Amino acid sequence: MANLSRLPTPVVEHWEWQYDGVCRSVDPEVFFPPDSERGPVRQRRELQAKQYCAHCPVLARCREHALLVQEPYGVWGGLTPRERDRILHEPRTVPTQRLTTAAAH
Ligand code: SF4
Repeated sequence: MANLSRLPTPVVEHWEWQYDGVCRSVDPEVFFPPDSERGPVRQRRELQAKQYCAHCPVLARCREHALLVQEPYGVWGGLTPRERDRILHEPRTVPTQRLTTAAAH
């Protein structure tokens, strides 16, 4: 389940980017496959969704949103749930390096 406490406030500026999403004119099942779907069928569907995302003018905003609220389902911003999960849980080396560099000066 998405972390609702991380959702932006219900102000239209926080959500209006979705009006420009390429997926608005595509069958939602391409982006949100059934839970029972597995293996190559699911992979093909995710690839199809990613191809739409690759041409989407709001990809960056969509990805930022999905990572911020930790969307658990579907392809958002060209990322599958597994890919988002990996990003969210990967070690954060860059900020630590910046802190170390900053401390040395
Ligand atoms: S990046 Fe993909 S999921 Fe996000 S709005 Fe665009 S088409 Fe839809």
